[in-house]
Amino acid sequence: MSSTVLVTGGLGYIGSHTVVALIEAGHRPVIVDDLSNSSIAVLDAIASLTGTRPTFCQLDVADRGALTAVFDDENIDSVIHFAGLKAVGESVEHPLRYYVTNYGATLSLLSEMMAQGVHDLVFSSSATVYGVTETVPIDEDAPLGAINPYGATKLGIEGMLEDVASTGGWRIALLRYFNPVGAHPSGAIGEDPAGIPNNLMPYLMQVAVGRREQLMVFGDDYDTPDGTGIRDYIHVMDLAEGHLAALDHLREGCRAFNLGTGAGASVLDVLAAASLAVGEAIPYVIAPRRAGDAACVYADVTRARSELDFSATRTLEEMCVDHWRWQSLHPYGFAGPDTVESL
Ligand code: NAD
Ligand code: UDP
Repeated sequence: MSSTVLVTGGLGYIGSHTVVALIEAGHRPVIVDDLSNSSIAVLDAIASLTGTRPTFCQLDVADRGALTAVFDDENIDSVIHFAGLKAVGESVEHPLRYYVTNYGATLSLLSEMMAQGVHDLVFSSSATVYGVTETVPIDEDAPLGAINPYGATKLGIEGMLEDVASTGGWRIALLRYFNPVGAHPSGAIGEDPAGIPNNLMPYLMQVAVGRREQLMVFGDDYDTPDGTGIRDYIHVMDLAEGHLAALDHLREGCRAFNLGTGAGASVLDVLAAASLAVGEAIPYVIAPRRAGDAACVYADVTRARSELDFSATRTLEEMCVDHWRWQSLHPYGFAGPDTVESL
């Protein structure tokens, strides 16, 4: 059934792919984004991909007055809340910025939803809420813990949402993403990180496109088959479809779901798949372990399969091919080389 979905942070990496999926499923997304980590060019790309230009309001979600105007005008049925800061390292350097932005946006949004009688919410959480665990696969009942301020905001917001839902009438899904990678198969939208990427896939794709010299593989002495770290990479198109499934299956209360593939790939597996997609070897060196990294992290995806009827289907090869198509078509992202290299 068609509905109007407010998408906070809808011009960002995961948000933009979800907006495309919403439009293709017949929903009407209304995007709010302050463009702090995205470009207005994404809106044009969504419009040309889908033939529909979604309503867009540039605002900070923490600005309650601006949010009220959107709810008053747009007849919102439900909300997907992506907006927030997400860089682990930056959160350690500037913890207050993370608490203010991530909590501030969520408090403002929840207050407005409450005032407007909108009680259906899908929240972008993260596998980081599991802290560093050595027990895999990780299911939703695994112990929780934050190991940096970014993770603390995700965990804190999950707790906030559980408390709110316990008052009755709310239907909330907490989606704990594992490692989103890839891009829309058109190559028109994709991940566009500001500055030096922290994550494996965007970093190695910037090496492949000639923006960086070589990948540093953080540790080859883990207790894993090839000694490098293992993660659960999920194609961003699968992730986008996971949001639709979550919206369709919202139930009274607050429920957490892992979104991953349920399988792990090592850094060297990703390098090999990415090199095949790119068509040449991607240079790398083995470097020391990165502080705080777990050896092996992958999801138990049973709950999403049984309760949301959702399973990720795209392979690591597709993730690399699609990520590379985006990266090679936009070597410097949406901003262009002058802006990007002066960052
Ligand atoms: P992103 O930075 O690409 O997208 C976030 C969007 O929100 C950006 O367009 C940014 O401009 C906007 N934004 C930030 N603060 C805002 C505010 N106060 N008001 C309005 N707009 C604001 O990030 P992403 O990778 O698409 O991640 C989306 C969500 O998913 C985030 O909450 C992130 O923590 C979570 N998440 C991401 C990953 C990942 O690896 N990408 C993993 C787990 C969880
Ligand atoms: N990694 C790496 N070099 C990099 C970035 C990441 O070797 O430049 C490794 C990292 O140690 C981990 C895996 O790649 O084993 C995934 O890291 P990422 O930061 O993408 O995700 P996270 O560790 O947050 O799940």
